[in-house]
Amino acid sequence: MKAGVTGLHHITCIAGDPQENLDFYAGVMGMRLVKRSVNQDAPTTYHLFYADALGNAGTDLTFFPWPEMGPGRRGTGLTVEIALAIPPGSIPWWQQRLVESRAMIGEPVERFGERVLPVTGPHGLRLALTETADSRDFAPWSGGSVPAEMQVRGLHGVRLWERPIEPTARFLIEALGFNARVKTEERWHRYELGAGTSGQFLELCEVPEERRGAWGVGSVHHVAWRVPDDAAQLRVQGMVQAAGQHPTPVIDRFWFKSVYFKEPGGALFEVATDGPGFGVDEPLESLGSHLVLPPWLESRRGLIEAALPVLRDPV
Ligand code: ZN
Repeated sequence: MKAGVTGLHHITCIAGDPQENLDFYAGVMGMRLVKRSVNQDAPTTYHLFYADALGNAGTDLTFFPWPEMGPGRRGTGLTVEIALAIPPGSIPWWQQRLVESRAMIGEPVERFGERVLPVTGPHGLRLALTETADSRDFAPWSGGSVPAEMQVRGLHGVRLWERPIEPTARFLIEALGFNARVKTEERWHRYELGAGTSGQFLELCEVPEERRGAWGVGSVHHVAWRVPDDAAQLRVQGMVQAAGQHPTPVIDRFWFKSVYFKEPGGALFEVATDGPGFGVDEPLESLGSHLVLPPWLESRRGLIEAALPVLRDPV
């Protein structure tokens, strides 16, 4: 069996106002809010998870809404764009839908043979809706306003700015198991996993003239990569260490287990197990409908709920 990660697991970003975040990702993008929780390190702020109907690994985009933080600074050592998979031929439909929302959209472009619609979300996060027919675990969500045949299928890839790219490129291959073969188009170098089914791409651009990026509203906080089980996670943890980086111990996030580390360019990565999944602490039918807290915060539920802004269902 090939060691390394098998694809994107989830991506966590920093948002502004949580209601605007919910209105865009659940309301406009039609993703399912599969978990309504809090930042485990700062429990008076939400942690909102959007995914497919079942919260399959590889479909999940999550947000810490921190409106008081100020905008992020686009720069090196950060993930600067997230590609989401949409069905082939669906770009015109999405263009029309997004024009009517708070999102800014660019002209459709072709990248690495794929049709891409660039979108800037309500708080500045850059998305690339990418038409793809790749096979993936995806369950359409019937509770939203986007028809099943147009829905976002999950995560497709990420783009990072680096100065220089070589240490990160070597790390992807040695520590995470990316293929050594790279495709290049304009200034972007595409690295591919090829071992799994979805979320297989990471693209690097060398921008030595740019400043270091900084977290803030509209930026990507971290990118999590999938492993099938605990044993695979420990193997990757060892490979990360052998490549000279500094992984954390395994942290139990209940829905999955996590190991965090920085890649050589400075972007925060995570390796997360596919299971047990979002159904472990609430029924699949009612995922996301009420606030879920880790056990050690349950005794403070009243205080936490009082401190969190009330969210209404998206329009
Ligand atoms: Zn994470």
